[in-house]
Amino acid sequence: MTDFAPYGFATRAIHAGQEPDPTTGSVIVPIHATSTYAQDGVGGLRGGFEYSRTGNPTRAALEECMAALEGGRHGRAFASGMAATDTALRAMCRPGDHVVIPNDAYGGTFRLIDKVLSQWGVEHTPVPLSDVDAVRAAVRPNTKVIWVETPTNPLLNIADIALLAQVAHSAGARLVVDNTFASPYLQSPLALGADVVLHSTTKYVGGHSDVVGGILVTSDDELDSAFGFLQNSAGAVPGPFDAWLTLRGIKTLEVRMEKHSDNAELVVQALLRHPRVTSVLYPGLPEHPGHEVAAKQMKRFGGMISFTVEGGEAAALEVCSRTKLFTLAESLGGVESLIEHPGKMTHASTAGSMLEVPADLVRVSVGIESGDDLVADLVAALDQA
Ligand SMILES: *Cc1c(COP(=O)(O)O)cnc(C)c1O
Repeated sequence: MTDFAPYGFATRAIHAGQEPDPTTGSVIVPIHATSTYAQDGVGGLRGGFEYSRTGNPTRAALEECMAALEGGRHGRAFASGMAATDTALRAMCRPGDHVVIPNDAYGGTFRLIDKVLSQWGVEHTPVPLSDVDAVRAAVRPNTKVIWVETPTNPLLNIADIALLAQVAHSAGARLVVDNTFASPYLQSPLALGADVVLHSTTKYVGGHSDVVGGILVTSDDELDSAFGFLQNSAGAVPGPFDAWLTLRGIKTLEVRMEKHSDNAELVVQALLRHPRVTSVLYPGLPEHPGHEVAAKQMKRFGGMISFTVEGGEAAALEVCSRTKLFTLAESLGGVESLIEHPGKMTHASTAGSMLEVPADLVRVSVGIESGDDLVADLVAALDQA
């Protein structure tokens, strides 16, 4: 097997784990639609596979490719980002343990920790991760995990990964980075000291809004064994077609992220000029409070932008319903542009909690269409709202 570590990102995306099939020469990894594998005598496994919950060659290719992209030794693929999140937390926490989470965490992550894992005795404290002193103050003797999102969803706050890794490690805890918003192209948490990187591959990694999935990458052999044990024991694995679609998406990740970032920069400039826009949240802006840290740990600033509009919730909802190219929908990271109202959509479950998001907030996932068309569409919607 070729060692892809010395190669550039795009080369790893296209080739790692995906060498031509040795038996047929198939250039593209086949969709191994099989539940089981013939054995040459009892225990005589031909390719190391015995049953597809435990392992499948298409899934293995995805796991190897994602490990190579994040610079980790091991990858474990799951049926969704939430299945990966659940696995990571259950592998690292026991009843009575404690997790520090962002106070603007992804809604589904907050729900899992607050409504499900709490029933099994896992405690949590939400804090603003951009405030390292607040994180230090939240750490307790039973803290096992500091959970990081950066940029956060939907407020695009920035956390300093290298600094938080030190805080976690000096407390005997582990640092997990949900790298979904940045993608492995823009940010490499393991190189900054994180123990585990998680993606909802549903978003930028898959990139085409046609498949749901998740991944965990680590270089820690023991953690990887724990993830693998749960992956097989609980069985929240992706099917081979899902793994194949995700791999197909990954091949263009670098060029997509460059174009997402180009288009986002155009959209940000147009939003800043529009009289109805009261604030623009984008880590690429020099006035963004996390800009310096983002510039240090990210290659570029990605395709996610949030902004607030004059006229409160009613105006925000108007804007969301008036765009033509930006489709009103949840999710993000696909080639097509999406718009949403976090307060009523993705983050509705945080209403009334300290994670509640502003009512006049609009979030856009800037796609890779022609940038001028996207700007015109958003400006027209704002003019009418
Ligand atoms: C979407 C998302 C998840 C959950 O992933 P699913 O694939 O929807 O289960 C977790 N974290 C972030 C930041 C996300 O955007």
